[in-house]
Amino acid sequence: MGEIIGEQRGIKAIESLESNVRSYSRSFPAIFSRARGSILLTDAGRKCIDFLAGAGALNYGHNNHRIKAAIVEYLASDAVVHGLDMGTPARLEFMKTFNSVILRQRGLQYRIQFTGPTGANAIEAALKLSRKVTGRQNIISFTRGYHGMSLGAMAASGNRFYRAASGSSLPGVTFMPYDGYLGSTVDTADYLRKALMDESSGVDSPAAILVETVQGEGGINVASKEWLRSIQAIAKDVGALLIVDDIQMGCGRTGAFFSFEFAELSPDIVVLSKSLSGYGLPLSVLLIKDALDVWRPGEHTGTFRGNNLALVSATAAVDIYWRNQSFSEEIQRTGKLMRRRLEIISANCGCSFAVRGRGMALGFDCQRAELAEATARKAFEKGLIIERCGPVDQVLKILPALTIDLQTLNDGLDIFEEALTVTLKQSASLQ
Ligand SMILES: *Cc1c(COP(=O)(O)O)cnc(C)c1O
Repeated sequence: MGEIIGEQRGIKAIESLESNVRSYSRSFPAIFSRARGSILLTDAGRKCIDFLAGAGALNYGHNNHRIKAAIVEYLASDAVVHGLDMGTPARLEFMKTFNSVILRQRGLQYRIQFTGPTGANAIEAALKLSRKVTGRQNIISFTRGYHGMSLGAMAASGNRFYRAASGSSLPGVTFMPYDGYLGSTVDTADYLRKALMDESSGVDSPAAILVETVQGEGGINVASKEWLRSIQAIAKDVGALLIVDDIQMGCGRTGAFFSFEFAELSPDIVVLSKSLSGYGLPLSVLLIKDALDVWRPGEHTGTFRGNNLALVSATAAVDIYWRNQSFSEEIQRTGKLMRRRLEIISANCGCSFAVRGRGMALGFDCQRAELAEATARKAFEKGLIIERCGPVDQVLKILPALTIDLQTLNDGLDIFEEALTVTLKQSASLQ
């Protein structure tokens, strides 16, 4: 009881001390004091199952103890934690491991650029580099795309709420319809090709086409293999670079390490962040094809590029999970189970809500924002953390850690089903 009062006081203190801009602490009003795997504990000792996983930054779960061991050892040895981008064994080890375990095994060849720690900064670097390489300014981005909060990344993001908050004009980007945007019978890649091939379409030749293979924030919209391959072919035909933003869908989320492997793409630039460090520590990189690495030394700089602690955990994550196929197979298996269960929940509730996604990135489209909101709130009361996405936050995003055990996963899905059922009953009785 004392703890509960304490936690309520803590929540009140956050409300009075922290800027109005805070967001997740509104959806999940609690003080989370400890975490392990897919379980968070609040100050008052309440247990919550985590289906948010740091918005995709915790693919290996909270405080993954196998990865933690490497960090603890590194800290204890007084090795260099901050060294700008100076050489350290941690940096070297990461690049060697990533290169051999992730890149070479997939027949990929890229140079690694460490950017500032946020995904947004890596997107900025990718846009700058493609403009520098091609001498063009325009970027093709897609409806409902999300690429981050800095002005360049924001210009390539669809959401009006965020765009308005930038308080600035957001030039240099042309939006095109994403796969499925105009219904399942229209191939939007045809329209993109037409607009870019037509000397009088009004669309400037692009430096790059920037795409997510599954739109995470945009509502778990899934691009097909064929569409993605068309986009790659169009980029090539018009002399633009293909940038895959794999910030949220990379690092195993869709089943393979990179979300574009299933379509056998060969992007010119790949952007990774969120789960790259494996531990929720900030770390972002660009993977750049050799010939495109035209940066002059120091042209995209920053204080925190490749923080050594994050590099140590990133190396451990690659080492532990990606040396063979078994983790990938497990993600695909678990993803299928999740999907089947969500489809059953959808059928049972009598509303046939769409279930979308790939691997362990799934969306449950409630169609109405109020329904998604009330279900997420009810789920949190019952001990499940689940977030919303999509143009009006009408899609519930099911994004558990890839390492979640089946018992916890099923417990979470049970809570989800209960929350949805109660919410639907309540909304029916109001009508
Ligand atoms: C989260 C995200 C970003 C932005 O990353 P930040 O670290 O929040 O700046 C960009 N693109 C995608 C697809 C994301 O999910």
